[in-house]
Amino acid sequence: MRILIIGGGIAGTAAALALDKAGIEVSVHEAHPGSGADIGAFLTLASNGMLALAQFGAAEAVAGAGFELTAMRLTGDKGSVVSTVPLGETGDPLRRFRCLRRAELGAVLRQEAASRGIPVRYGERFVWATEDEDGVTARFADGSTERGDLLLGADGIHSVVRPLTDPDAARPRYAGQRVFYGYTTEAAPPNEPGRIEMLRGSSSAMGYAVSPAGETFWFARVSAEELSDAEISGTTPAEWRDQLLPLLRPDSTPAADIVAATDGRLMVTNARDLSTVTRWRTARMLLVGDAAHAASPATGQGASMALEDAVVLAKSLRDSPDTATALERYERLRRPRVERNIVNSARLTPRRAPSRMQRTLDNYRARWKSRNGAAGPPSSASAGDEELALQLDWDTPLPDDSPAVQGG
Ligand SMILES: Cc1cc2nc3c(=O)[nH]c(=O)nc-3n(C[C@H](O)[C@H](O)[C@H](O)COP(=O)(O)OP(=O)(O)OC[C@H]3O[C@@H](n4cnc5c(N)ncnc54)[C@H](O)[C@@H]3O)c2cc1C
Repeated sequence: MRILIIGGGIAGTAAALALDKAGIEVSVHEAHPGSGADIGAFLTLASNGMLALAQFGAAEAVAGAGFELTAMRLTGDKGSVVSTVPLGETGDPLRRFRCLRRAELGAVLRQEAASRGIPVRYGERFVWATEDEDGVTARFADGSTERGDLLLGADGIHSVVRPLTDPDAARPRYAGQRVFYGYTTEAAPPNEPGRIEMLRGSSSAMGYAVSPAGETFWFARVSAEELSDAEISGTTPAEWRDQLLPLLRPDSTPAADIVAATDGRLMVTNARDLSTVTRWRTARMLLVGDAAHAASPATGQGASMALEDAVVLAKSLRDSPDTATALERYERLRRPRVERNIVNSARLTPRRAPSRMQRTLDNYRARWKSRNGAAGPPSSASAGDEELALQLDWDTPLPDDSPAVQGG
């Protein structure tokens, strides 16, 4: 079997590594001309993401990038500490949360792919695909074509593959918040090694962590109107800083000092997510990662979900009698979990219009009911932890009736 993977981001490269481990031939086709010189954002990878990475031998390499987080402290706008809690699976160094730049994660995954001889081709912008009984043909912007047995759409929230599996899929929607993020070595906010600080401000939700090298990584989510592309590209870091600071100044937290100490490395983006993508697959195409189920950033789980996708897909193809069964099984196992994450993240994104969030919840509930014939999805997220560990464990075959995992 040969699989064409469209998109060399987190989902695409991780899928390539997991599928390669399952003995499947893959090639990755990435639109970006270089190695994806990044827009500068950083991520936290959660324990479930690290567990997924371990299944295809990439956890150690990723753990070598960025720094670990083992606790989270929440402080209110008046400066009093609300709670301090351990973060994830702290016992195993390879399961600890990691904080790293998206570019660092991408570089590590691509390096792993290169070391395993997996072809990653840059500058190949996918535009269209046609499928027939024998296979699928991908077409690229330069006129070239590529033939495979299956095509994976791992091309992110603005996926070009998505309209081919679901012509009626809604476009990504604004989640009601803009996200500022930046880096500074000029601030010295209160911190402890391995602790991420969450500041519940009067007009923002901010988080920061200080790397072992003394660099403060921070983000701030602010409810506001959607920014146009022209505003984003036409506004300087200093102007963004001046817009953000008045929202932080009234609070008795280090938020304003951190932002004031940030110079050029300050960026902003719109938080977006996807409502339900009804059809993830055709006979020979399948969506993975943000292309299928992008959530707004509040739960910090999008990358970890993409890493889980990679493992469950590779195991489904490895353990199923045929491709159709594998794709059906993959979707059955993944859909409840990733859609729950979209809903949870929307809940944590306060300015989203209530009617819109309710629609997402109602859609999810209605689909769950029509599939399962019961009153609605269970609300507990923890009940599925053991099932998730089994689903991800490379050496545990996926039984035919393996349960779907809820939660996010
Ligand atoms: C502000 C912000 C903060 C976030 N914080 C976190 C966090 O802390 N933790 C976390 O887990 N997640 C976080 N996320 C979510 C996370 O970034 C995404 O879930 C993750 O990047 C999804 O990976 P992906 O590979 O599916 O998509 P992407 O990372 O978008 O990769 C898609 C790839 O496909 C390529 N591509 C696109 N179109 C084409 C085409 N036509 N042909 C070929 N290639 C194409 C792109 O160039 C890109 O390389 C955050 C997101 C945002 C916006």
